[in-house]
Amino acid sequence: METRRLTVELGLSGSVVRVEMDVPMGDVPMERLLPALQTTADALVSFSARNSVAEGKPISCAAGCGACCRQLVPIAPAEARQLAVLVEGLAEPRRSVVRERFAEALRRAGEAGLLPALKARGGPADGAAEEISLAYFQLGIPCPFLEAESCSIYEDRPIACREYLVTSPPANCAAPTRESTEMVHLPTRVCAAVAWEEEGGEDFSKTTLVPLVLSLLWAAKNPRGRDPRPGPELLRSVYARFAHDRTRERKRG
Ligand code: SF4
Repeated sequence: METRRLTVELGLSGSVVRVEMDVPMGDVPMERLLPALQTTADALVSFSARNSVAEGKPISCAAGCGACCRQLVPIAPAEARQLAVLVEGLAEPRRSVVRERFAEALRRAGEAGLLPALKARGGPADGAAEEISLAYFQLGIPCPFLEAESCSIYEDRPIACREYLVTSPPANCAAPTRESTEMVHLPTRVCAAVAWEEEGGEDFSKTTLVPLVLSLLWAAKNPRGRDPRPGPELLRSVYARFAHDRTRERKRG
C-alpha cells in the first residue's frame, strides 16, 4: 500500500511542534496508523520534556529503571491487537516465554481478586481506576515485556509507556501516588485520543482502555475494530480528538 511522508504542525501554547510521519494512503484499521501516532506521541513528549527541563524540572526516568513497568498500563484497543500480533510473530522459544509471563501475571491478578475489575468495560479509564491500579501495582507484577528492568519491545512499546515521564525522585516510583510522583504535563494524551476515536462516541468516559496485561485475551475476543478508513482521514479524526481534549483541559483549568 502506498504511504506518504506527511508533516503536521501542531500549535501548542505559542510554540509549533512539527511531526513528520509516514501515513498509509489507503483504507486501514487503526493498527496500521499506530506508527504515525507513536511518532506524534514521541514529538509531544519531547516538547513537554524540554519545557519541563526549562522550568527547572529535569526528567528522572532513565534507562534500566522499570519501576513504572509494574503498573496497570492502559492501552488503546488497537494497541492490544498490535501487541497480540507482535507476540504471535516472536520466534520460539521466546513466544512461549512471553505468553507464559502474560499467563502468570493474570494468574497472580486473579489470586488477588482483581480480574473481574480488570476485565470490566472501561478498564482503568473508569471511576474505580485509581484504586484498581494501585492494588495491581502493589502486587509487583512485572510487565511481560520487561527484561533486566528494560523494555524488550522498546521501539514498539505502547503510547502510554511513551507518555509516562516523571520529574520526582526515581525512588518515589516504588510506591507511586498523586502526592509522591510528579508527572510531566502533556498537552494531550495521544493514547486516550486513539482509544476515544476507536470508540467513536462523544463521551470520553465510555472509552475502553485495555490493561496491557489483558491485551492477548482482549485481542482474541475482539479481533477487529471499526471498519478501515483512509489513513489521512483516520489521522485527522484522531488529531481532532486532541483538540477536544485540550478544550476540556482549558475548561477544567
Ligand atoms: S511495554 Fe515496555 S515500557 Fe511498557 S510497561 Fe512493558 S516493559 Fe515497560
